[in-house]
Amino acid sequence: MNIKNGYVARIPGTKKREKCDVCNTIMDVERNIDAPSSWGSIFSKNRMKQDCFTCPHRADKWHRQAYTLQQNAANTPSPHLAKIFLREASEVLDSRIPTKENW
Ligand SMILES: [Zn+2]
Repeated sequence: MNIKNGYVARIPGTKKREKCDVCNTIMDVERNIDAPSSWGSIFSKNRMKQDCFTCPHRADKWHRQAYTLQQNAANTPSPHLAKIFLREASEVLDSRIPTKENW
């Protein structure tokens, strides 16, 4: 499962608004931006007009930790560990304070 880390690009005009996969906040949008057409083309000249949605909390430590916990929950083969990861992600999202520093 691929959780988007507070950034989504869409074909212009197809979405009025987007919620962040991580924290459920309505994301900021810049419309009709000349942006890479895919992650693989970041360093090439393959660009196209897109509406770029970005979570205003994307760079915050709590957001990055919650994202990593959600990713770990999605990728572990253990449903028990997934529950633990998601419980801690929920705690981080509720408090907006990371539960661990410098990881
Ligand atoms: Zn977010």
